[in-house]
Amino acid sequence: MKHELQEIVAVVNNKGGVGKTATVQSLASGMVRLNHNLRILVIDLDPQCNLSSLFGVRDNEYDNIYNAMCKQSGVPVYKCKNGVYAVPGSAQMENIEQHLPGGPSLREQMKSYTVLLSCLQDNDCHDMTGEGLKNVFDDFDYIFIDCPPSLELLTLNALCAANSLLVPVQGEYYALEGLSDLMNTVRIVRRSMNPSLDIEGVLLTMFDGRTNLSIQVAQEVKRFFGSKVYSTVIPRNVRLSEAPSHGRPITAYDRNCRGADAYIALADEFLKRNA
Ligand code: ADP
Ligand code: MG
Repeated sequence: MKHELQEIVAVVNNKGGVGKTATVQSLASGMVRLNHNLRILVIDLDPQCNLSSLFGVRDNEYDNIYNAMCKQSGVPVYKCKNGVYAVPGSAQMENIEQHLPGGPSLREQMKSYTVLLSCLQDNDCHDMTGEGLKNVFDDFDYIFIDCPPSLELLTLNALCAANSLLVPVQGEYYALEGLSDLMNTVRIVRRSMNPSLDIEGVLLTMFDGRTNLSIQVAQEVKRFFGSKVYSTVIPRNVRLSEAPSHGRPITAYDRNCRGADAYIALADEFLKRNA
């Protein structure tokens, strides 16, 4: 089957612990579950490498996105048990600034923001699957980038490489404050380097419909982002927090729990929006 890249989606929120990594894992797994023909790649840009651990691709210090970005080596692509493909992250990403082109001038700084995009476009895949993968632009339908909880260099690289962003928002008091910083950054990226950067969607995560706070945050997020907010809401669900320690995505760990249902519904909504 021919694969044609539809979209590169950066999953971003400058706050940690809002469900970015869980969303990348569960949405990608859910999409493959709904359509086995889809080829989906996830890229772990967070130095914490949680996504790599979840997908079980954290096995050596060479084949990761850091080396692909800094040493112009191939983009290492692994295939995971559930049919999703993954590019491992690296703890060395913490210090990537020192290893990228850069300098005091604006021109040089901007160069350091487009390293990920150039790497994905220009470097061939280092194919760990034996399937003959050549370049991520030719071999995948969707790419999701899991970002660290900041608005610095790595996230800027993701925003320059992406067509759109998906923003998980947790129903809590400071949620909107952080979002205005994120939206300022998006405006700057649009003005300078990636004018067509779109908002794919805003996702309410860890939602607890019994608390007024969750409901209030949901209302405010909808007032601000309108129809960009997915109608699927991810509930706070203990099975979602257990799944990682069993090394499985929620859709395989307990297909019948509310968390799995929600992520399958999100996968469906995502695919319908992009149909
Ligand atoms: P982030 O990537 O934004 O830092 P994570 O996806 O790692 O956030 O989620 C933070 C923690 O919350 C993880 O331990 C994860 O397993 C757990 N978690 C994520 N989503 C849910 C949810 N809907 N309900 C309960 N726990 C969740
Ligand atoms: Mg994370």
